[in-house]
Amino acid sequence: MDFATRAIHAGQEQDPSTAAVTPAIHLSSVFGFDGEGKPRSEYDYIRYGNPTRGALEKCLASLEGAPEECPALCYSSGVAAIDGVGRMLRPGERVLIAQDVYGGTVKLAESIWKPAGIETAYADAVDADAFVAAITPNTRLVWLESPSNPLLRITDIATLSSEAHRAGALVAIDSTFATPALQSPLALGVDIVMHSSTKYLGGHSDLLGGALIVRDPELRARLYEIQKATGAVASPFDSWLTLRGIRTLAPRMRVHSENAQAIAEWLEHHPRVRAVHYPGLANHPQHALATRQMSGFGGIVSFELDGDRDAVLEVARRVKTFTFTGSLGGVESILSYPALMSHVALSQKQRHALGIADGLIRLSVGIESADDLIADIGHALEA
Ligand code: PLP
Repeated sequence: MDFATRAIHAGQEQDPSTAAVTPAIHLSSVFGFDGEGKPRSEYDYIRYGNPTRGALEKCLASLEGAPEECPALCYSSGVAAIDGVGRMLRPGERVLIAQDVYGGTVKLAESIWKPAGIETAYADAVDADAFVAAITPNTRLVWLESPSNPLLRITDIATLSSEAHRAGALVAIDSTFATPALQSPLALGVDIVMHSSTKYLGGHSDLLGGALIVRDPELRARLYEIQKATGAVASPFDSWLTLRGIRTLAPRMRVHSENAQAIAEWLEHHPRVRAVHYPGLANHPQHALATRQMSGFGGIVSFELDGDRDAVLEVARRVKTFTFTGSLGGVESILSYPALMSHVALSQKQRHALGIADGLIRLSVGIESADDLIADIGHALEA
């Protein structure tokens, strides 16, 4: 079955006892055992599993192309999912992280993993040769993110996966910006796909969740042990909201991508805009790679305003349809300022070294009318 069909039906078969078309929200935290002391169903206790979370886990595995014996693992947040991966490492082992990943990933690595004895290192994953050269013998895990935040840089996932495997490292990728609708990292050789379901999977800015999807049952069993022991699982209600969001993921991602493309092309010609970062633009440095490895370019666009922080804040004050805030991935459009939001933990020097200029604005382009969105930014950019 095609992706759009699986998004609506995988893991969401009609309940045989009620014929309900939509999955139920099972709130029960315990499930009955039979006389022999064995659980009567596949569930016994909510931290270990729950039918609503189970439905979401089956659906996500199907969408990422994981085998049936590897349902996804759903977490209470995206960072909980990232931490689930990091906890596989032992003191003395090393994680090599792409240099322009989500700021919370760096915070987790530096404030939680490193004090636990895990070595952390960073390299530019867009420069495949330099990144591969940075993989040392004790590198157990390589952490990628593509498209990256906030500059929408694209990593050659297949090349880096095979090189990392050759060096004996596992490969994980944060695929939140792309979603399974636009990118299939498992098919490109990645071992672990991670999503913040808070973003596009939920799609309506009303839940918190994360997910890991793998194709190796042994790897899944290890991650599941950690999840059971640490308990950062998705609640039944958040699981249900995520499933409901996923039902419309395919058409939403199509409109997010169309709107983002239209806005990126419009911004390119604006006199106050120095640069536009969007993988769907022909002049994006990794446009050809993005075209090969993605089936659409997604809803995030960033651009550099000809101005500094005050100029950005003035634009933020003037937008009406866009909301000035930090997150992304909902049906509504958001304008954010990485220097004060996602990358506030970095110094100005560190931001500049990563190419994040003081005038950089990130847009999470929603699914409103593209004309209205362009009119809104156009008005806000009027000098
Ligand atoms: N990965 C990316 C790319 C994100 O943008 C975020 C949150 O902004 C996360 C991970 C963390 O997800 P959560 O906020 O669900 O913990």
